[in-house]
Amino acid sequence: MTRDHNSAVEKSQEWLKENTKRYAFKKLEREIVKMGACVECGSCVAGCPVNAITGEVIKRKYIPVLTGKCIACGTCYAMCPRTSVLQDDIIGEFTSVWKVRAHGDHKRQNGGAVTAILGYMLEKNEIEAAVVVGQSDEVPWLPFAKRVTSKEELLDSGGTIYTHAQIIEEMHSCFKDNLSSIGVVGTACNINAIQRMQSHPGSYLNIDSKATVFKVSLFCMESFNYNGLVNFLKGEGIDIKKVERFAITKGNFIVTFAGEEKSWSVKDLDPIAATSCSYCTDLTGMDSDLSCGNIGSDSDWTTVLVRSKIGDKALKAAIKEGLVEAEEIDEKALQAVINTARLKKNKRFKLKHSY
Ligand SMILES: Cc1cc2nc3c(=O)[nH]c(=O)nc-3n(C[C@H](O)[C@H](O)[C@H](O)COP(=O)(O)OP(=O)(O)OC[C@H]3O[C@@H](n4cnc5c(N)ncnc54)[C@H](O)[C@@H]3O)c2cc1C
Repeated sequence: MTRDHNSAVEKSQEWLKENTKRYAFKKLEREIVKMGACVECGSCVAGCPVNAITGEVIKRKYIPVLTGKCIACGTCYAMCPRTSVLQDDIIGEFTSVWKVRAHGDHKRQNGGAVTAILGYMLEKNEIEAAVVVGQSDEVPWLPFAKRVTSKEELLDSGGTIYTHAQIIEEMHSCFKDNLSSIGVVGTACNINAIQRMQSHPGSYLNIDSKATVFKVSLFCMESFNYNGLVNFLKGEGIDIKKVERFAITKGNFIVTFAGEEKSWSVKDLDPIAATSCSYCTDLTGMDSDLSCGNIGSDSDWTTVLVRSKIGDKALKAAIKEGLVEAEEIDEKALQAVINTARLKKNKRFKLKHSY
């Protein structure tokens, strides 16, 4: 049997044309090579179907350089181990994506889907408790993780606090109190921690088959350091005590206070992001049952990615019971989620040094 390398290359080109964006080498050079994220593997050089890229050795360092005519086929970008191009790498696996809005007027950040779905599960005893986040009475906008066991308590805990909360510690305390099925809301990093516990052979969550966690992740570009946020606002003449609402919509951080609204690009708040956020490449929380955020929907709707059978069952039941209205979202809206998730992944490689 003879191998036909050329026909394999042709098929690869066709696949890329149909399935991924057709990036030029310039993009790879800008995002990866010049940022110092290149691992010097030569996959872009070897993969280029028109031999337009050369691996030049400059000061004993291997650097991919464009020496021919780039046809912008996207092969170099797709084959680089430092880029993210496939949908599953960027937002993980899911079975359906919806925009969801809760009926009623309970406290909420966007469509109130998180609260409505968990409320339904509590009411039907599908979970014994939900771990959510409340605001400290003493320190304004300081989050604390709390356990709620009734729908009424849960309805009072809607809305977002853009600072890390210790939800895993509270989840532990639920299991210590002999509860066995818990719903947990958290950012991707928190949900990743639960997934680690569920899959690690030495973790009680893996060993105790009766302990179950229904995981709801919140989309998250970054979370802010509490003192950093207080000082940032102070610098802008805003006392955090007066803030009525925080929101992140369409790349902007919006603060509502004393009847006024002020906004900044989320990028302007990068210096006060939690240091751990620079390690994170997961916008949507790929390890969850449901991932919920606002990207892809209008601000009074929640975009919901369904990732598991139990997540699907919970959403469909909430629709059937008339607690929420929902529509499957279109390609354009899903693309907005993918683009933002890719941005987050690429952010991780924006290193300071170039060659
Ligand atoms: C740090 C952070 C950054 C975010 N960044 C984005 C973003 O860039 N783009 C985007 O589209 N969405 C982002 N979100 C998610 C968004 O703000 C909403 O939470 C999401 O759209 C769900 O809206 P909802 O109306 O369905 O939720 P609701 O029904 O209002 O319920 C929200 C639930 O989240 C819980 N909660 C609030 N704060 C926290 C917290 N810090 N940690 C854990 N749980 C919490 C509440 O207790 C409540 O149970 C972010 C959330 C957080 C916490």
